[in-house]
Amino acid sequence: MHLEFPLHTPTALIHGSDTAFPVRRIYCVGRNYAAHAREMGFDPSREPPFFFCKPADAIVNVPSGTTVEVPYPPNTTEYHHEIELVVAIGRSGHDIPIEHALDHVFGYAVGLDMTRRDLQLALRDKGRPWELGKAFDHSAPIAPIRRASEVGHIDRGPLWVQVDGKDRQRTDLSKLIWSVSEIIANLSTYFTLEPGDLIYTGTPEGVGPVQRGQTMTGGITGLGELSVTVR
Ligand code: MN
Repeated sequence: MHLEFPLHTPTALIHGSDTAFPVRRIYCVGRNYAAHAREMGFDPSREPPFFFCKPADAIVNVPSGTTVEVPYPPNTTEYHHEIELVVAIGRSGHDIPIEHALDHVFGYAVGLDMTRRDLQLALRDKGRPWELGKAFDHSAPIAPIRRASEVGHIDRGPLWVQVDGKDRQRTDLSKLIWSVSEIIANLSTYFTLEPGDLIYTGTPEGVGPVQRGQTMTGGITGLGELSVTVR
């Protein structure tokens, strides 16, 4: 069977490799740092994690040592950065036990969950889905994935983002409410995880707006940095 239109498979870069990571789905965790839950107006008690999705083609690859441009998105005046640890899944599974969860991890990356905050909050307050606020084009910049076989499993260490050189978000990954293992275990009760899935694990406090011409530089110790300019 011939395709009516060309098939475009989104991919992410793999650090130090000429193979690419084919992106199947992008899952995102909401309110996974207590101080960010509070700044969004919520009690950060340890209620079960919740998830939303972005389309796979929202990925924007940011090669090491480069700055990539993303367009300021339409229909917003509050375009916010959310710096996050991203988990790349390399092995299929469902109902994955916590103690085996890390066996399903291919690697880790630093990423940005870009958000039209004004739309997200308006949708949230009306009990509507978040897609218009979260799942727009170019909303998932990501640095090259580092293989867990090379960098180990990442559960602590600094996570930060600056805008034009000024600190906006800075925390330690040990402050995640739900750990990577717990996220994988819980998410895999709802969906069969497959190789190619990415999980954005949530953002710490300090989310805020970026304007045209500004540059976000974020990183995670051990995983490198990414740099994105808004055009
Ligand atoms: Mn987020």
